[in-house]
Amino acid sequence: MTGQPHIDLHTHSNRSDGSLSPTDLVRRAWDAGVTVLALTDHDTVAGLEEAQREAEVTGMRLVPGVEVSASWRGQSIHVLGLWIDPTASRLAAALGDQADRRRVRMRRICERLTSLGLPGDSLLAAVEARPGLPSRTHLAEALQAGGHVNRTDDAFRKYLGNGKAAHLAAEWPALAEVVSWILDAGGVASLAHPFRYSLSGTARRKLLGDFADAGGTALEVVTGANGAPHVDAAAALAAQFGFSGSMGSDFHDPRQIWNPLGRSLKLPDCVVPVWRGFGI
Ligand code: AMP
Ligand code: MN
Ligand code: MN
Ligand code: MN
Repeated sequence: MTGQPHIDLHTHSNRSDGSLSPTDLVRRAWDAGVTVLALTDHDTVAGLEEAQREAEVTGMRLVPGVEVSASWRGQSIHVLGLWIDPTASRLAAALGDQADRRRVRMRRICERLTSLGLPGDSLLAAVEARPGLPSRTHLAEALQAGGHVNRTDDAFRKYLGNGKAAHLAAEWPALAEVVSWILDAGGVASLAHPFRYSLSGTARRKLLGDFADAGGTALEVVTGANGAPHVDAAAALAAQFGFSGSMGSDFHDPRQIWNPLGRSLKLPDCVVPVWRGFGI
């Protein structure tokens, strides 16, 4: 280990669409050298208690987090809440509503699949048998397991991705509302993977301006999943809008060998780290 803490502020467990239990996630991250880890499941904090228990066993520092689905101009946008109090009542109630939205949405997507000639009911049952909040990832895996697609990527390309036959327009709460839940819970709001949305440069800057106006203060400058070419551009945006920078792998599953847990991430020196002021 180097003197610099090995930080990963964006990961998923099987409480959302990751494959590892919170315990296994923390253990695996620790074994890979991560000393500060945020668990940021989609729209749920259900894994945080278990992750915290394992963090205490290992000596790892766990940052309580969540990745909340929001909508902005008809697009789904993901907002990371870091250092949240998961018991804060408004956030907890809002995440309960998000869970309901996810369950309803999954039923509707499966109805669409039925109308496309696929076995929507059994696909829904497979998703509902999983421990996490339902997500398109689970459905893609069910489509693959049923032999309807060869790879989960194909499920997104054929059915579930933006604009595809079984895609539903974002019905998430507005961006500003989502940011307010995070602030209410004492957290820092960081806009996740800013280059993964299909937005023009102008629209992206408008998004960041609206996010700042809502009280967002950080930008995910380094994202493991598909970020490398965009780090400098994201750093420039952070500077332009006065955001601090967060970084994370967006790890979901060890079988995604192109995005391993514990990969070393580095925030450019010109970016103020979001963890400054948190004793890290
Ligand atoms: P949901 O939150 O239910 O809308 O599902 C979105 C999740 O699906 C993301 O968090 C990713 O983990 C995954 N995902 C999105 N697009 C793709 C894709 N093209 N291929 C594989 N996984 C994807
Ligand atoms: Mn995901
Ligand atoms: Mn995301
Ligand atoms: Mn994520």
